[in-house]
Amino acid sequence: MKRIVVLGGGESGYGSAVLAKSKGFDVFLSDCAAIQDLYKAKLKKWDIAFEEGGHTFDLILNADEVIKSPGIPEKAEVIRKVREKGIPVISEIEFAGRYNTAKTICVTGSNGKTTTTTLIYELLKAGGLNVGVGGNIGDSFAYQVATAQHDWYVLEISSFQLDGMYDFKADVAVLTNITPDHLDRYDYKMENYVRSKFRIVQNQGPEDYFIYSMDDKVTIDTVRAHKEHFRMCSLPFTVKDTLLVGAYIGADGKIDINCNNRELFIDSSALQIKGIHNIYNVMAASMAAMIAGVDDRTILNTLYGFTGVEHRMERVDEKDGILYINDSKATNVDSVWYALESMTRPTVWIAGGQDKGNDYTLLHALAKEKVRTLICMGVDNSKLVKAFTGVVPFIYSTGSLAEAMERVAVVAKRGDCVLLSPACASFDLFKNYEERGELFKESVKNLPAKQRK
Ligand code: ADP
Repeated sequence: MKRIVVLGGGESGYGSAVLAKSKGFDVFLSDCAAIQDLYKAKLKKWDIAFEEGGHTFDLILNADEVIKSPGIPEKAEVIRKVREKGIPVISEIEFAGRYNTAKTICVTGSNGKTTTTTLIYELLKAGGLNVGVGGNIGDSFAYQVATAQHDWYVLEISSFQLDGMYDFKADVAVLTNITPDHLDRYDYKMENYVRSKFRIVQNQGPEDYFIYSMDDKVTIDTVRAHKEHFRMCSLPFTVKDTLLVGAYIGADGKIDINCNNRELFIDSSALQIKGIHNIYNVMAASMAAMIAGVDDRTILNTLYGFTGVEHRMERVDEKDGILYINDSKATNVDSVWYALESMTRPTVWIAGGQDKGNDYTLLHALAKEKVRTLICMGVDNSKLVKAFTGVVPFIYSTGSLAEAMERVAVVAKRGDCVLLSPACASFDLFKNYEERGELFKESVKNLPAKQRK
């Protein structure tokens, strides 16, 4: 019997183990850290052998195939040993793809994956299609392939998942953009990261679709370089040009989409999600929905009703004329660029945390134009303070959310926007970006009335 070893006991690993078990393989799951009780209970229920808190190599190196969870880096000792033995290593999406019979819409990119994936899912659901959503949202793709029956899947796919994908083919591939992120996992080489992202179109043929940004230089340069190998139907989107096929925005603010012999007009001013980045997300999602056959009226109604995903430019409240926005998911410079770009009020910007090698000069022009006060919130704020000294009139360094919010209560004025858009990971002060966002929202709720001017 073929032995499958799953490394990592989170959502993705658990789903892979269940699928492998349901297909009759000899399955073993191993995690070097503790596995959450929730997953342990489920593994026991499915009668899947597992270990936690360390790897027993004898039980791993006898595998015929290894399914690696996306969080495990290539340089981990266990992966090195598996590779030395020549055991094939694949990702959960590759494994699940072997047994999947539904059509797949796969979304990748440096920013905008969750927003675009969620939007496509909402559009297909509203169109009455039998659709599942997977990847970073909800149940894993593998688990759903094992236990559910869908006609369509919308999958958010990170570059770490893509790295372990070889034969998988997306019916519809969406690449939102490519900007430097996670370079620590790619030997600090941008070309390795770009190659990984472009795996989203591997194996695509003439009956498949590729939706991508014409405004993203890295994407366009790569598309041009590989043009002769691409046989799929190309559907670009842009806010800078007009297009015969694909999506663009006219001077009147109408988004014009020509896709699959259909034309659709979207009134961008009727959208509740704001900013150019969300125009991009709407363009990409609408094209995917048009390919899936969702009718125009359903697409428009769903787009106009969509209020966004939590922690992404999420409107928290307006109190005493001060608007509060939670963009805790903005953990890199590019997403903050779009956040600042969409600001229409004088901005009190809360940023900082664990820096991932950020180049803040990319934000200087927008910060100068939009930000009156920068409140740094992190264990070490020195880089951020230095980067914006002379760019932003007022800068304060704080070491906790409570301290940052005390500052907010003093400096924010009627008519301002207080924007939490950190450009950094959250792990120095918080469990994750979700906790950072939740606590921010709670502190906005609890802002003392007398301090609110
Ligand atoms: P991902 O899943 O790729 O991390 P999200 O949809 O969760 O993307 O958004 C992450 C951050 O990037 C948020 O701050 C959001 O406002 C911003 N963002 C969303 N879409 C885009 C886009 N198309 N381009 C740049 N930034 C974006």
